[in-house]
Amino acid sequence: MPDPITLRDVYRARRSIASIVLRTPLLHSPVLSQRAGAPIYMKLESAQITGSFKLRGAANKMRNLSDEARARGVITVSSGNHGRAVAYVAGQLGVDAVVCLAGNVPANKVAGIKRYGAQVMIAGSSYDETTAHALALQKTRGLTFVHPFDDPDVIAGQGTTGLEILEDLPDVDTVIVPLSGGGLISGIALALKSASRAIRVIGVSMARAPVMYHCLQAGRIVSMPEEPTLADALVGGLGDVNHYTFDMCRELLDDAALVSEDEIAEAMAFMLDTHHLVVEGGGAVGVAALLSGKVTAGGPAAVVVTGSNVDTGLLAEIAGRYG
Ligand SMILES: *Cc1c(COP(=O)(O)O)cnc(C)c1O
Repeated sequence: MPDPITLRDVYRARRSIASIVLRTPLLHSPVLSQRAGAPIYMKLESAQITGSFKLRGAANKMRNLSDEARARGVITVSSGNHGRAVAYVAGQLGVDAVVCLAGNVPANKVAGIKRYGAQVMIAGSSYDETTAHALALQKTRGLTFVHPFDDPDVIAGQGTTGLEILEDLPDVDTVIVPLSGGGLISGIALALKSASRAIRVIGVSMARAPVMYHCLQAGRIVSMPEEPTLADALVGGLGDVNHYTFDMCRELLDDAALVSEDEIAEAMAFMLDTHHLVVEGGGAVGVAALLSGKVTAGGPAAVVVTGSNVDTGLLAEIAGRYG
C-alpha cells in the first residue's frame, strides 16, 4: 500500500505551484441558482492558464522533481489538457518534455501543446495504447512520467482547487466535479472532507463510456471501449494498474451521475449565452448535471468548470443549435 495523501500535501502543493498557476474565481450564478433551487457557484478553472485545472497537478509534480530528474526531462500521455499543462510547466521551469498523443485527439489541442514548445509524438489509437508507448519511451530515455491523474503530487496539486473553494465559500454543502481518471475529484474531496466529512462530493461523467463510474459500481477496476463524446477531455480508462484514484474515489465520493450528449451541449450553450463563458464539453458536465436535475443541491454548491479548450467552430455550431 502506498502512503496516503494528506491535507498537508495539498497545502505543500499550493505553496510550490503558487507562482505558476492562477487562483481562479468562484462566481455566483443567479440563473443556475434559480434553476437548481440552491445557491450555485462556479469554480472557473476554464479561466486557468492553459485552459484547464490540469496545470495545478502538472506544476506540483514537476516542481517536486530532483535536479537530476529535471535534467533528464519528462514524458506524458494526454488527451489534450494534461499535455498542454505539462508543456507549459516545462517551458516555465526549463525542463524538456515529450507529450504522447493518440491519433484521435482534436487538432486544436495538438496545436496548443506544440505552441508551448514540447515535442509531440502521435502514437496509438486509444489512450491505453498511447500510454504503453509512452512508458516504453520513458524507460529507454530515463524520463520521468507525469501521470495525468494517478500520482500523489498530481492529486495534491489538483486538490488546491478544493482549498480555494473552501476559502471563498466556507459554507459549501455540495461540490460537483467532472470525473474521468479521478485525480481532480480525489484531490478536492481530500481537501474538503478534511475540513468536514459533511461536505458532499459528487462526480459527473458523460454517459458514453464512463469508466470510473462503472469501476465504482462494480467495486473493481473494469475497462471498456472508448466512445466519441463532446466531453473528449473525459475519455480514457484507468490503465492496467491504479494505485490511488480508484480507492480514493471509492472512499470519498458521495455520489456519481451521468449526463447525455444533448445535456452536455445544452450546458455548453448555457454557459456561453448566460455567462459569456467558453466551456469545453468535459468542463460542462457538472453544469449539465445541475441543469438536467440529475444532481441536486440542498445548500450552497460549487460546480467545478474544468476547462475551456474547445474548437470555436464546434462551440458556435452548438450555440446555434442549443442556444
Ligand atoms: C482531465 C479533465 C477532467 C477530469 O479529470 P480527472 O482527474 O481525470 O478526473 C475534467 N475536465 C477536464 C476539462 C479535463 O481536462
